[in-house]
Amino acid sequence: MTEHSHQIVIIGGGSAGISVAARLAQGGVPADVAIIEPSEKHHYQPIWTLVGAGVVDRDVSERDEAEFIPDGVTWIRQKVASFDPEHNAVTLENGDVVRYEHLVVAAGIQVDWQKVKGLKETLGKDGVCSNYSFEAVPKTWEFIRTFKGGTAIFTFPGGGPIKCAGAPQKIMYLAEEAFRRQGVREKSRVLFASAGGAIFGIPRYRAALEKVVAARGIDTTFNKDLIEVRASSKEAVFRDTTGGAETVLKYDLLHVVPPQSAPDFIKASPLADAAGWVDVDKYTLQHTRYENVWSLGDCSSLPCSKTGAAVRKQAPVLVQNLTAARVGRPMKGRYDGYASCPLVTGYGSLILAEFGYDGKIMETFPVNQAKERYSMYAMKAHLLPELYWHGMLRGRM
Ligand code: FAD
Repeated sequence: MTEHSHQIVIIGGGSAGISVAARLAQGGVPADVAIIEPSEKHHYQPIWTLVGAGVVDRDVSERDEAEFIPDGVTWIRQKVASFDPEHNAVTLENGDVVRYEHLVVAAGIQVDWQKVKGLKETLGKDGVCSNYSFEAVPKTWEFIRTFKGGTAIFTFPGGGPIKCAGAPQKIMYLAEEAFRRQGVREKSRVLFASAGGAIFGIPRYRAALEKVVAARGIDTTFNKDLIEVRASSKEAVFRDTTGGAETVLKYDLLHVVPPQSAPDFIKASPLADAAGWVDVDKYTLQHTRYENVWSLGDCSSLPCSKTGAAVRKQAPVLVQNLTAARVGRPMKGRYDGYASCPLVTGYGSLILAEFGYDGKIMETFPVNQAKERYSMYAMKAHLLPELYWHGMLRGRM
């Protein structure tokens, strides 16, 4: 067993971990920083919607992690196994111990494929696909492209928050347009089967999306949580979240968004809240019980929408407050819950939802963002990936 020691230790080198590391490396109070991240690759997950729709290749979403570890920051290529916040230490899977003065937890969300019976075995076969992993996403386009008509079902899971709550329906709109282009729309049914109670949580965008769904002849069914995929009979089984009877639907294409939860090693730790997320103050991002522990992004308890856009606003607040706390100054950074969801409604149209805590609308542009626009689609497809790789991950936004 080896012992490592760093002033600031960041768990996770995804969107949140790298954003924080880049900002810390840029200035403020100099510190010895380490990132613990097992993966050699970094993924820009928001583009997977367009990969699944055949707009771009999966490879555009992947870069070497090494490219984004800032100069001067130590990269520990390991997984964290457990936390010991009373002794300011974490234990790695190889048994090594890493000690810290401040800890930033940015380990993302856990995708619980196994919670849907039969899903792991059927994913990528016979029309069952998902945009929620780098490995699986190319099959989405293969199955959309070769769809010959029938029933295409797009699911939204229950059981807690997921990353990018808009993504389950974005791929549906793209598929519906692809079916029209391929001349199979007339002989197909497109169905959104959601464990939620409505198409979207924020009323302003919900109203706009309900119009899109109606205009495109898309069917919806709510309070339906996918619990089983039966490959042999091509049936999807849904639990009724209001206590009603199970529903069994035949599918020809099934796009599954799997249930998600806090990573197990966080759930089992003293850092977790009752639901398993790292328990932080929703404004300062400081842990509610351990004042040298911080969290942001998908693994945090922040009651905002789990998106990269939210991370972009959280990272500067966290760095500002952590830097102040290290030198005993008051924390002035406050995160207002901002998140954005670029709701792609077709190949060339998008509704840009932007909102903060309690559903407060926080739109950027002086136009009606609840309207479908080509300009917003172009921003999502071309501008945002560049801003991510060259701006956000470099601590510049
Ligand atoms: P991640 O970026 O997932 O990074 C977590 C990191 O932690 C990973 O590198 C992982 O290897 C590491 N890790 C995990 N466990 C451990 C451990 N035990 N020890 C050490 N490291 C560990 N967001 C938007 O803003 N707009 C969109 O349009 C959008 N669309 C999306 C579409 C899809 C299909 C998906 C899947 C996501 C989408 N998102 C979107 C969400 C966005 O990608 C995430 O919210 C964002 O990546 C969260 O950043 P994070 O750093 O918290 O987690």
